[in-house]
This record gives sequence, structure tokens and C-alpha cells, in this order.
Amino acid sequence: MNEASAQPFLPLTRPTIDEETIAGVAEVMRSGWITSGPQMKAFEAALSTYFGGRPVRAFNSGTATLEVALALCNIGPGDEVITTPLSWVATANVILRAGAKPVFVDIDPVTRNIDLTLIEAAITPNTRAIMPVDLAGLPVDRDQLYAIAKKHSLRVIEDAAQSMGARWKGACIGALGDLVSISFHPNKNMTTSEGGCLVLNNEQEAKLAEQHRLQGVVRDADGGMEVDIVGGKFNMTDIAARIGLSQLKQLDSFNLKRTELAQHYFDCFAKTEVGLGGVKQGESEQAIPLGLPVADFTDSNWHMFQITVPFDQLNITRGDFIRAMQSRGIGVGVHYPAIHLFKAYRRLGFKEGDFPHAERIGRETVTLPLFPAMQFNDVDRVCTAIREIISETTSQNKK
Ligand SMILES: *Cc1c(COP(=O)(O)O)cnc(C)c1O
Repeated sequence: MNEASAQPFLPLTRPTIDEETIAGVAEVMRSGWITSGPQMKAFEAALSTYFGGRPVRAFNSGTATLEVALALCNIGPGDEVITTPLSWVATANVILRAGAKPVFVDIDPVTRNIDLTLIEAAITPNTRAIMPVDLAGLPVDRDQLYAIAKKHSLRVIEDAAQSMGARWKGACIGALGDLVSISFHPNKNMTTSEGGCLVLNNEQEAKLAEQHRLQGVVRDADGGMEVDIVGGKFNMTDIAARIGLSQLKQLDSFNLKRTELAQHYFDCFAKTEVGLGGVKQGESEQAIPLGLPVADFTDSNWHMFQITVPFDQLNITRGDFIRAMQSRGIGVGVHYPAIHLFKAYRRLGFKEGDFPHAERIGRETVTLPLFPAMQFNDVDRVCTAIREIISETTSQNKK
């Protein structure tokens, strides 16, 4: 056993839930109203204030918000939606489930987000929308994005699932733009257990979103109802909304802590000579370049801290690396393998070589622990473990 394994396990991520939140949830549980009601309304109002007064509706997941956003844009069979191949698979699944076709555009290997300079070449007469993702909370360039959308009259559905609290030129993501979809999954920067919200353009669109959210029902003053569109069942419970109300108040402090921890990762990697310059065991030895994220300390919300490790060069597999980290008491993750190489997507004709940057990062990416309750010495521990594992494998390779 490793000495380090005596320390408590450091998970990849963990939500921070305080006693005020737990007491608030207990109060809702005792109130006699636990599904969508006054807490959901209050949460939507607080979110709307956060997003500069734009209409907001709450849902039971970030996937549901994307599905409803596609429905609001009338996207279905015959339509194409341009998106990134490097995301959580939900991003592309919702397009397929709407009956439309995902058109992937490769990523920029530095930002790891969709390469905006390649979008125009992917536009066809069937293109209806662009669905960008702010991977790890690093925002896609909104000026360039909306210039393309405007020029080609396309809708934008921002899959901002990971970018709650991230910024673009001073404004928070969601305050500007077309439809903006956010997730409150427990791994995201703020949570409602499960949940999401959609930022909309006007009250009319918000009313339509409400219909899609709950079976298409519109109630009238006489206690009756009408159904003229076939909606789904995507409403947020008051229990979830109550968690969200407390989390929203803490979002800025959560994100500040994430940013400080990210900064500390950069400092540690610089000190331990693991980082952009590579791992050096001595002057004569070749550096092994680890890829670090863009060091953005103004716009990113540091949803994740992801490095790329050239496993081929190191002669170890990602599985070996993950197990070696785990034996040192550290949880790491993979976000994400390239979507187009999943079986369900290969079946549609996508194949290896289609999007080389997304494929390489999908193979080499490793997500390191990052959550508000972490301490700086946890970051030190992660960096030390990585350096140990890499120097062990490089010295083994030399034998
Ligand atoms: C988390 C996430 C989603 C889905 O959100 P859920 O709340 O889990 O449904 C969609 N897209 C991206 C990029 C995500 O990270």
C-alpha cells in the first residue's frame, strides 16, 4: 500500500451543501407542497435577477432544458444542428432525439471548444441552429458566435450546462444571447440535486416553454384546461428549487474558491516541472508535454480542471493512470471521449479521423479534483501524485 492512501480519499468532485439548505429543504418537506410551487417560482425569479432580468424557467434536468429549447426552435426531422464532438453525450443525444441531425465541427485544441472558424463551412440549407458548449466553463467567443448566427439567420441554443457563473466581457453567461440552457446536476458549479434552467428571449417564449415542460397544458380561470401541443414532463420540484435558492446565493463564493484552486494547480505544475513545458527528469531527458487548460482568470468559472496526458508516449494506458491515482487516494475522471466515436454515432456513419482534435483530447484528457471544499494542500497532493506516476513510468520505460 502507498503511504498516501492513509489520507482520506479525495474525490473528483463533491457538492457543498450547508445546514441552512438542509433546514430549508426540511421546511419544504413539512409544508405540504413538495413539487413545483412557490419555491420553484422564487427560484425562477432569483435566476431571472441573476441573468439581468431575462425570463427564466426551471426544469428537472439540463437535458430537459435542451430538449425544450430545440422544440421552441421547431427543430425536427430534416433539420441540422451544428455542435461540438467534445462534450457530455447529452449535447448530441437531444438533437437525435428531436429527429434532427447533429453536424459536428472539430474543436480548437487550445480552448477545447468548438472551432468557430470552421462553422461556416458546415452550414447547409438545412442548418437551423448552433449549439455550442463552454467546456469546463471556459466560454466560447460570444461575439464571433453571434456574428455567424446573425449572418446565416440561425438560432443559437447555448449548452451552457457547465458555465453557470462564467462571464463574457463582464456579463454573466445567460444574460446575453438567444436560448441559454444551464444544468444543476450535482457535479456542476451549483446544484438542485437534479435540475436545470432555460433563459429565454421573452414572456411569450417562456409561456411556450412552460407548456412543453408540463404536457402542453394551459389552464383557464374556470379551472378547466386546454392542450394544443404535446408537451413532456420536465418540471422542477420545490425540494430541488429550495436547494437551488441556497446554492445560488453561494455561487460567487463557490466560483471564487474554484478559481483560486485552479490558480494553485498552475503554480504547482510550474513548480513540479509538470506542465506545458513537460516533465523533465534531468537536462538530457526529453520533456513529456502535459496539456494544461487555458489559464483564464476573468471569464471561466473553472467547472473542471482538465489536463491532457500523452499516454502513447508514456507507454501507459489511461486506465493504468487512473488506477495509480486511485491507489494514492485520488479520484480522477474522463470528460469526455469524443461523441462521434460512440457506437450509436458510428452507426450513423461517423468514424475515426472525422474530428482529429476532439479524438486526441478525448483519448488524452483527465479531469483532476476541483470543488469548493478542497484545500490547497489537496491540489499539492494531486500534483505530487501525477509527478510520481509519470516519473515511475518514464524510468521503467528506460529499462
Ligand atoms: C451536465 C451537462 C448536460 C446535461 O445536464 P443534466 O442536468 O445532467 O441533464 C448537458 N450538456 C453538458 C455539456 C453538460 O455538462
